[in-house]
Amino acid sequence: MMNIIFLGAPGVGKGTYAKELVEKYGFIQISTGDILRAEIKKNSNIGKEVSKIINEGNLVSDEIINQVVTNFIDLDKNYIFDGYPRKISQAEFLDGFLKDKGKAIDYVICFELDRDIIIKRLTGRRKCSVCGNDYNVYFNPSPNNDKCVCGSVLSQRNDDKEEVIDNRLIVYEKDTAPLIEYYEKKDILRKIDSSRGIDNVVKDIVEIIKPDFVH
Ligand code: AMP
Repeated sequence: MMNIIFLGAPGVGKGTYAKELVEKYGFIQISTGDILRAEIKKNSNIGKEVSKIINEGNLVSDEIINQVVTNFIDLDKNYIFDGYPRKISQAEFLDGFLKDKGKAIDYVICFELDRDIIIKRLTGRRKCSVCGNDYNVYFNPSPNNDKCVCGSVLSQRNDDKEEVIDNRLIVYEKDTAPLIEYYEKKDILRKIDSSRGIDNVVKDIVEIIKPDFVH
């Protein structure tokens, strides 16, 4: 069994690569952002508590986020943590949680991308709320103009608006980027240039994890 963390600023492609590994290699993706957005959609208590925080691009409390993650995992699978941990305190919590179960993080893949491309990837991101298809108006536009191929309207995440993106990147630098050194010290961090095509990046990820990954 294997536990991998995908690290990197918003917009570097963590979710896209995770979905490829889910499809091709049977990993389970734990995207805390996706889980929280689903809670908002359901209008659950957690959803109500976090929606303003997310829309402003700030971090949800460790208490909520650690709960969400531990509720989700049973650890007998290959996991990709996508968007978690985002703070040293969360990383320490996760280490402790895994250790109690005789597990550990095997690799942390850190995706690197220039800020101007990050901003285009975020501001251009669109999703079909009906079939879930992802598009990007700059890099992967829908052949059906501003509609999905299924004919439904595409929507933009509230926190992908330019004024919120600035804050998300500030929060990343301040709270999340220190995790790079945290995992470098444990000798499990690997860096990947995220400016290339999806297939190339996925190939690099598989190269890194292959020695320990039986598939
Ligand atoms: P994402 O989809 O990963 O970009 O996450 C969207 C938003 O959900 C973030 O901007 C935060 O507000 C919240 N969020 C997701 N993961 C975490 C986390 N590990 N810690 C705190 N907040 C989080």
